[in-house]
Order: sequence, then C-alpha cells, then structure tokens
Amino acid sequence: MYHLIRVDSHTWAFEDRMPDGDIVRFFVLDGKQKCLVIDSGYLLVDVKGMVSDLLKKEGRDLSSDGKTKEILLANTHGDYDHTCGNGSFSSFYITGTDYVNCGLEKQFPDAGYIAAEEGTQIELGERTIRYYLAPGHTYGNAVILDETDKILFPGDMVQTGTMFMFGEHRCPDRMEESLLKLIGMKDLYEKIYSCHGKLILPPDAVDQTLSVWRKVRQGQVKPERATVFGTVEVDLYRCGFCNFYCDIKNS
Ligand SMILES: [Zn+2]
Repeated sequence: MYHLIRVDSHTWAFEDRMPDGDIVRFFVLDGKQKCLVIDSGYLLVDVKGMVSDLLKKEGRDLSSDGKTKEILLANTHGDYDHTCGNGSFSSFYITGTDYVNCGLEKQFPDAGYIAAEEGTQIELGERTIRYYLAPGHTYGNAVILDETDKILFPGDMVQTGTMFMFGEHRCPDRMEESLLKLIGMKDLYEKIYSCHGKLILPPDAVDQTLSVWRKVRQGQVKPERATVFGTVEVDLYRCGFCNFYCDIKNS
C-alpha cells in the first residue's frame, strides 16, 4: 500500500513499489480553491478518499470561501499504473486518444471524462495547471505543467526507471519530437516530479532521456532479452540514465 511523501509545502506524492520492483507514484497538488491529483496509481483503492483525508489532516480541506475543496483528477496517460484509482472520482481529465486506446471508458463506465487537449487549463486558485500533448510513451500521452510553481509532471516520459516503449499503445516514432518539445519549454519549469525512479529530477533530465533514446533508436545500445508480465518476451535496453522495454520492430 502507498506511503505518503511531502514533496514541497503544497505538493505530496503517494508512492509504492509494484510487484515487478518498479516504484510508482502519483501526486497531489493543493491550491487555494481546489486540489488536483495527477494520476491515480496501480491499486484499485479509494484515491479520492485518501486525498480527502490528507487535506483534512493538513488543515487544507476548505477553500477560501469555507466550502469543502473540490478534488480533481488529471491523468498524464492511460496506462493501468496511472489510472487504477480513477474509479473513485466522478470524472477525470485525460486525452481523448488514451481514453479510447487504453479502454478507460469500459473500465470506468460510471465516471465522466473531460478531454484534455493542448493548452487545457485547470485553475486551482493561485496555482495554474496546464496540459501539453507529448505522444511517444502512448499515442495520447501528455505532460502536465504547474505554471505557478514551475514544476513539470511528465508521467512516464522522463524518468530514471524502465520505460515501456513496446506494445500496441506505444508511439515510439513520435518520442523524439515530444522530448524536443519539452526541451523547448525549459523556461517554463525548474524541476521535474516523476512517476517512476527518482522523484525529483532537474530539467536536463529531458536532454539525458533524449540522448539515450536516440542511441537506442540508432542501434547503439545492445539489448538483452527480458520477460515482463510473467510471460511476455521483450528487448530491454539498459542505458545508464534510464532503461527502455522495446519490441523488435521498434528497436
Ligand atoms: Zn507508468
């Protein structure tokens, strides 16, 4: 089960180690009027209830007009380790592409969905959040920027763990252009809060990811065979900064 990490004065992470050994986490961003959860982890648990308890414990459960703060959910992408807790919310933000491709409509038929697009803004009260599309890890992959605090939430596309780049939901041909887009946005963020591996990364982690990804794509890294989900054989590229699972046609 998750343990709680206070990341800064108004941001928290719920973190756990998955059965395969990888660390996964999702984030809670508190504003003056509303609270936003970014991704919802790999367990079918009441994430909204957990966040509500956290806000109460921290004395932050009321908005400035004395009402119970609304708790929103925004997904970076549709993979199960970022969406299992979605069912505890009445609606959630995600790109339309991942909502369809990753089967969230069938998985959470009772929840509404808000299609996140390039520039979609979520105002929390003196804390402004914005979506940027960044296909690669999935077709509908997005990063979420805390404009006020200058923090980038890249989901899986910048991390020091092992990134899944194989399978039908992946879009490896667009990964490079999306990493270049994040590099072009560097004046907008001063740190990166990542869902896997190390929690806090500097902005140049994007350059490092691009550098090793190019090496993988150019055949400069020799893969080893690995097994994921117990039975699926894939190529594992160990690149130092992070690793990638790719299938042969993507390598
Ligand atoms: Zn993930």
